[in-house]
Amino acid sequence: MTKILKLLIGTNNKGKFKEIRDLLPKYIKTYSTADYNLKSPREDGLTFEENSLIKSKYFSKKSKLICLADDSGLEIDILNKDPGIYSARWGGKNGDFKKAIKRVYKELSKKDKNWQKKKIKARFVCALSICFLDKKIISVLGKIEGFISNEPRGKNGFGYDPIFIPKNKKKTFGEMPLLQKYKIDHRSVAFKKIKKFL
Ligand code: IMP
Repeated sequence: MTKILKLLIGTNNKGKFKEIRDLLPKYIKTYSTADYNLKSPREDGLTFEENSLIKSKYFSKKSKLICLADDSGLEIDILNKDPGIYSARWGGKNGDFKKAIKRVYKELSKKDKNWQKKKIKARFVCALSICFLDKKIISVLGKIEGFISNEPRGKNGFGYDPIFIPKNKKKTFGEMPLLQKYKIDHRSVAFKKIKKFL
């Protein structure tokens, strides 16, 4: 298989772009969606995998480059796995993560008034797909299990990081140094699986 030397990272999220670029081998020249002035397509898939394929194919067709795209989110078991594929959308049009976190707490309170006294199981999920034009090259899934914190803690990372405590840890992702988060999170788990295709 020929090595991929040029790759478009198909995300408009700066936090994700930085993390994905840091995980890639240094010899790969990376491009961002901003380099090609690309807006995100409509994500109307029903799973993380479907949405990552939609983005990867769309950005690849627009740029004519091989594209690596991800779709990720937070699943909370007692919320029937919500926000799930709607994780970004819970932040509203402006991607306001404070708003998204408020919504999580509101939905948890609706489900169970005493949720704060319980261990609320959750996981981050990440689907990564590499496509060239309309063709799928590979698609993988990575997960990290954990719990929802009673209150937002920490300023690192992005999105739901301040309310997610990985299993067997005390700190939220928001409190951990970025490099520590990158070593264990859902994106790096997916990355380990996709590495041999790069
Ligand atoms: P996507 O851009 O459609 O994949 O949206 C993913 C959304 O899930 C993000 O906007 C965040 O709200 C959330 N999310 C995904 N990965 C992470 C993470 O590593 N930390 C915190 N939130 C995340």
